[in-house]
Amino acid sequence: MPIKIICADITTLAVDAIVNAANTTLLGGGGVDGAIHRVAGPELLEECRALGGCLTGEAKITRGYKLPAEYVIHTPGPVYQDGKHGEAVLLANCYRNSLIAAQEFHCETIAFPCISAGVYGYPMEEAAYIALSTVSGYLKETADRLIVYHVCFNVQTEWLYNSILTSLGIHGGRG
Ligand code: ADP
Repeated sequence: MPIKIICADITTLAVDAIVNAANTTLLGGGGVDGAIHRVAGPELLEECRALGGCLTGEAKITRGYKLPAEYVIHTPGPVYQDGKHGEAVLLANCYRNSLIAAQEFHCETIAFPCISAGVYGYPMEEAAYIALSTVSGYLKETADRLIVYHVCFNVQTEWLYNSILTSLGIHGGRG
């Protein structure tokens, strides 16, 4: 299964596309969004301005500018309330729609952060489970050749992703 778990700063990765856990304005924010805009430079914000925002769970693609990645796929994750407001479906949509955008742009490698698990408050374990089960399900359905990196920002998250991958019966790999 072409799913890899790595511990890294997503802005350093030379993949075809990195995914930005954006907000619906697409005008930048904190966390991974802020880090991506800082490295990409002001041209990214300019291109984002022209997109007119993005609905939660949908995805829009831009160039990567000064990032080593060619493209950035911006997807606003759900703000976690109590899990009873459709958050799981919206979060799964983020992954699926990002993968669709990557395919449309003929990407072979894509890297995801743990969408919604920072400021948006999604419990990390549930967010990681949705990430891995949605991506593996999509890759099986489409038989796509994409290599998908799940980028963990610390070793605890990396450990969690690896244990969920094992519990799903998926054999991933490092790096
Ligand atoms: P959200 O608003 O969707 O919760 P955040 O950016 O606050 O998004 O956090 C999403 C996840 O991205 C968190 O797990 C956070 O630790 C992680 N993260 C933050 N900065 C980076 C980075 N530079 N590279 C990879 N992951 C990051």
